[in-house]
Amino acid sequence: MMKVMKFGGTSVGKPERMHEVAKLITRNADSKIVVLSALSGTTNSLVEISNFLAHGNREGAKNTIEKLHQHYKAFIQALVQKEENRKNANQIIDEHFEFLNIILRISFSEALNKDILAQGELMSTKLFCVYLTEIGVDHELLPALEFMSIDANEEPQLGAIRIKLNDLIRKHADKKILVTQGYICRNVRGEVDNLKRGGSDYTASLIAAASNASVCEIWTDIDGMHNNDPRIVNKTVAIEQLSFDEAAELAYFGAKILHPTCIWPAQQENVPVKLLNTMQPDAPGTVITKEAGSVGVKAVAAKDGIIAIKIKSSRMLLAYGFLRKVFEVFEKYKTSIDMITTSEVAVSVTIDSDLFLEDIVRELEPFGTVDVDKGQTIVSIVGNEIAQTDHVLQKLFDALNEVPVTMVSYGGSAHNISLLVPQDYKTKTLQLLNAGLFGL
Ligand code: ADP
Ligand code: ASP
Ligand code: MG
Repeated sequence: MMKVMKFGGTSVGKPERMHEVAKLITRNADSKIVVLSALSGTTNSLVEISNFLAHGNREGAKNTIEKLHQHYKAFIQALVQKEENRKNANQIIDEHFEFLNIILRISFSEALNKDILAQGELMSTKLFCVYLTEIGVDHELLPALEFMSIDANEEPQLGAIRIKLNDLIRKHADKKILVTQGYICRNVRGEVDNLKRGGSDYTASLIAAASNASVCEIWTDIDGMHNNDPRIVNKTVAIEQLSFDEAAELAYFGAKILHPTCIWPAQQENVPVKLLNTMQPDAPGTVITKEAGSVGVKAVAAKDGIIAIKIKSSRMLLAYGFLRKVFEVFEKYKTSIDMITTSEVAVSVTIDSDLFLEDIVRELEPFGTVDVDKGQTIVSIVGNEIAQTDHVLQKLFDALNEVPVTMVSYGGSAHNISLLVPQDYKTKTLQLLNAGLFGL
């Protein structure tokens, strides 16, 4: 059986980290598919290049390209030692930078933007393969663009991915180590596209599901899913065990360690997911399986950039069909609703994208008064059978005494209680919950 091992940006971001990845994938003789992200910082630089070009600033784009090129040249010097391999590696990256320099002269388009963003994973995997060759590790590079695809709604096509990937695996049945790019894919038009920021986790989970892998290991720079956001709260602890449902909620509601929708493929095929630390390979990390393990609150996460929309109408009173009409507007603009609360005369919902906000508001206005509040944060408290946990609501509201909570969603899922707070209160809310719910 195959094992999937995904290494994120920081895990391949320095030559010595890449050397460490090679050690980790050769620790045993299991067959494995190794999924790599771009070197840390690269995708951000590529986004910057695209933004410069979108605004007609060629000089800015050129400077960023040049800086990035120098970074890769220095990287190669420390990555491989043999002259032949250095030459190979330099040739590879020169080709990618030549492509970026050609782009400077073409008129910018969305398709071109996706081509630019794909360069990071293309370069990291090729460089890693040059290093594997240098240390004599037999391997094959599987181009993700040959098997990873999304449909017209930008959803991964698991069925098609399964067929194409398994063909490639059979073709290289003599190889124990297959390397591929995270994040990148093809869209319905056959163009290069991607699975959105952080998408390499999604690639790993899709590959794990498509190949019926024994495990999907996500190797990163922290020892697993923590009970709270370690970027915001001082003291956090790793969680040993989560169910797929719990992990999916945490990922969706802002725990950056996992891409927001990456859990479902592994869950669908019941492939365990492990979150592991490249810097501490023997730490237990977090195991995500069907079973929930213990009952109770496990973690909190926060998702920024939320917009609350309130529709108030006396016509809602005793009217049936009102909510359907409201929801149809969101459906028309392919905008998903995260939270919802209703009263007799009003309904409040939250969305995480302002792409069609103006259209949505315009179409909601005939139903009543529409209020829009931008700059909100959803704070989610996640755990198994959380609603049945003793005194959980009391602890929650005691802890948040000083926070102006504007919406509460409770009971919709057995694993989640969500609160809406103004973004300015996010840090305070996470800190207060850390003390109130976890005693940390
Ligand atoms: P990678 O580049 O390996 O994909 P990411 O930066 O995407 O890594 O994800 C790991 C980071 O996620 C951690 O360094 C940590 O700062 C952040 N993070 C946010 N919330 C959590 C959480 N609840 N548990 C663990 N890490 C978290
Ligand atoms: N390189 C991409 C990003 O930075 C994908 C990933 O790292 O998961 O978003
Ligand atoms: Mg990530």
